[in-house]
Amino acid sequence: MEKIGAALESLALERIRPTLNGTGVILHTNLGRSPLPRGAADRLGEIAGGYTNLEIDLASGERGPRARFTERALAQLCEAEAATVTNNCASALVLILRHFAPPPRNEVIISRGQLVEIGGGFRIPEILETSGARLREVGATNKTRLDDYARAIGENTALILRVHRSNFYLEGFVGEPDIPELAGLARSHGLPLVEDLGSGALFPTELRAGLDHEPTPAEALNAGADLVCFSGDKLLGGPQAGVIAGRGDLVARLKKDPLFRALRCDRLLLAALQETAVAHLAPEPDLPVYQMLKATPDELVARAEKIVAAAGAPGGLAIGTGTARCGGGTMPKSAIPSVTVTMPGSAALAKRFRLGDPPVVGYLQDDRFKIDIRTILPHQDGPLARAIAAALSV
Ligand SMILES: *Cc1c(COP(=O)(O)O)cnc(C)c1O
Repeated sequence: MEKIGAALESLALERIRPTLNGTGVILHTNLGRSPLPRGAADRLGEIAGGYTNLEIDLASGERGPRARFTERALAQLCEAEAATVTNNCASALVLILRHFAPPPRNEVIISRGQLVEIGGGFRIPEILETSGARLREVGATNKTRLDDYARAIGENTALILRVHRSNFYLEGFVGEPDIPELAGLARSHGLPLVEDLGSGALFPTELRAGLDHEPTPAEALNAGADLVCFSGDKLLGGPQAGVIAGRGDLVARLKKDPLFRALRCDRLLLAALQETAVAHLAPEPDLPVYQMLKATPDELVARAEKIVAAAGAPGGLAIGTGTARCGGGTMPKSAIPSVTVTMPGSAALAKRFRLGDPPVVGYLQDDRFKIDIRTILPHQDGPLARAIAAALSV
């Protein structure tokens, strides 16, 4: 036991703990993507150490459906007949493809302009193959026409897949059919049209200058997609999860697939996702991701001034500008003017911040170490000021 203890001690830094994100990247995958809304964090605290009514119908005392409240709330937010949840969006996609494109009728038609690598070396074509589906690529990188899809449809076609270009954009001589056109084609051949939205925001993301519109699940479904899938911890602003929404009959079939059981979400994830959905039902969503996108430079400067003062305003500490991004493979064009606390920097100083308590991750630019205030949660301003004072006092 002592040996094990010693071995773990050397890994103590790797134990998961609160870390301040001063990178300006709102959905930073290495920092856990989306912070949870307060309601979700509170609910986790309430239920984590005890039992829950996860799968019991409290009215009858019988076994009840799992996650029905969350599924209904998500369906409403997506303007869908039904919705369900798996443990992430990649698994949601594998489930959809395995279920609706089993061999021998396993061809999935996809545009060459949508063969996306989603990060971490994970590529959509490889996910497709893992699922047993066969890729039928159509069109060219920059242009795919409706007729390219039409000509690819044959007796082994199982479905048409659209993948949102989450983390890059095409500009110039480009084009592809829109969802209503593809939906018309899919329907005339009795094929489902599935859209992998990746992020799938539930609020209009064009909150400020510099922010693009991210397609919403409701837009894709109302335009004619039969099913959409998207992540729980990107712009939804919740825990890691994969949401599937759309036609009731298709969602019901997926929930009966044995693979669905293998991708089942645990009570902590479901409780966090439930409260994230509730946060979205409010007119002004009480979500860290939303607040971070929305914060004005004036608000951030006011916070930065307080942080600098609380840190004792040591020499060299200044307020500067920066550029925040959405990150996590979302809205690649968006560059959000932001506010930073800066100081003369070096790799050694950046390391001192990372090894501090709490750890602070910032970035070096033009010989200065910068901490972007947009991605610091307001309740972390005090701890950040203390971390700055400690790092500079050595
Ligand atoms: C991010 C992303 C995924 C994967 O989502 P996870 O929840 O991380 O599994 C799938 N497809 C697209 C288009 C994405 O952007």
